[in-house]
Amino acid sequence: MSETDGRVSLKDFSLKDLETFIVSLGEKSFRAIQVARWLYGKGARSFEEMTNLSRGFRRKLEESARITWLEPAEIHSSEDGTKKYRFILPDGEAIESVLLPERDHFTLCLSSQVGCALGCRFCLTGKGGWIRDLKPSEIIDQVISVRAGLSAGQKLTNLVLMGMGEPLQNFENVLQALEILRAPLGLQFSNRRITVSTAGIIPEMVDLLSRRNFVKLAISLNAATDEQRSKLMPVNKKYPLKDLLSACRKIPLPNRERITFEYVLIHGVNDSQEDALRLTRLLKGIRAKVNLIAFNEHPGSPFRRPADETVQKFREVLRAKGFTAMLRQSKGSDILAACGQLGGHAK
Ligand code: SF4
Repeated sequence: MSETDGRVSLKDFSLKDLETFIVSLGEKSFRAIQVARWLYGKGARSFEEMTNLSRGFRRKLEESARITWLEPAEIHSSEDGTKKYRFILPDGEAIESVLLPERDHFTLCLSSQVGCALGCRFCLTGKGGWIRDLKPSEIIDQVISVRAGLSAGQKLTNLVLMGMGEPLQNFENVLQALEILRAPLGLQFSNRRITVSTAGIIPEMVDLLSRRNFVKLAISLNAATDEQRSKLMPVNKKYPLKDLLSACRKIPLPNRERITFEYVLIHGVNDSQEDALRLTRLLKGIRAKVNLIAFNEHPGSPFRRPADETVQKFREVLRAKGFTAMLRQSKGSDILAACGQLGGHAK
C-alpha cells in the first residue's frame, strides 16, 4: 500500500476527526463508532473484515482511506522473557518496541521517534541523531501489533513511552496517540498505566502535567549537578536542573500522584554516596519516586556498570532520607533491549 496513493490513514485521525471524515462520506456519525471498534478493539487489518458495515460503505472506505499495520520484521527473545520487536516503517526506517513480562501482566515500551536529537551520551538511540517523528498511527500500531501476537490470558496493561526518541519533542503526535491509547473507543489503557518519560523538555512537560487526569510522568535525571548532567545530557544546557525541578515543584499533582525520576547509575561518573546525598537535596519538597537503573553496557560505550554493592549503597542513602527508591532490574540486556540500548543491533 503506497504512502502517496492519496488515501487518508484512519489511525492518524483523532476520534473527532474520524467522525468528521465518516460524515464527509455521507454516512451517519455513529458509523465512526463502529469503525473505531474495528480498528482498535478488534485490530482489523482490512475493511473487508468490518462485516457490520454495508458493502457500499466499505467500498467507499477502501477508495478513500487505508488501515496501517506494522508487522514485526524481527522479534528477539531474551533469556529473562523480554522481547524486542523491530518494525520497518513504510519509508524503510526502523523502530523498536520492548515487551517486558511482569508478575501478572506485560508492559510495552514504545518508541516515539526514529532516532533522537538529544544525544544523551549513555544512549545508543541518541548516537545516530534524529531522523524523523513518528506519526500517531506508528505509535499506536506498535501496541496493536504486539497485542495481536499475545496468547489468550497474556495481558498487556501498561505502556511506557521510553523507547527510541524524546516523546515531548513529538508532542502533538504523542498527544493524539495518547488519546487513542486511552479512549473507551480506542485501546482502553488506563491513565495510571501509561507513563511518558522525558529528558526534561520543560514547556511540554508542564503542559502535560497540567492536564487533569492524565498519564504519569517520568523524568530522566541521571545526575545531581548541572556540570555532571550537561556532560551526560546536553539538553541540560537548555533546561538546567534548577528550572526543571522548580517546574516540578510548581505543578499541582493529583492526590497520591508522584513524579518518577529515572537515574542511570554509571560507574565512577554519578554513583557515589555524595551524588546520592546531592540528589536528596535536589528533590527535597517534590513528591518523588526514584528509579535506579544500573547502566547497561553496550558496544562502543565508554561507560561501565557499577558494582551491585555501589548501587545498593546509593539506594540506601536515598531511603534513609525518606525517598522511595526502586532498583529497576534491567531486562533484556542480552538482546540490547534494555534502557538506552535501543536502535542498535542485537548481539
Ligand atoms: S536517552 Fe532518550 S532522550 Fe536521551 S538520546 Fe536516548 S532516546 Fe533520546
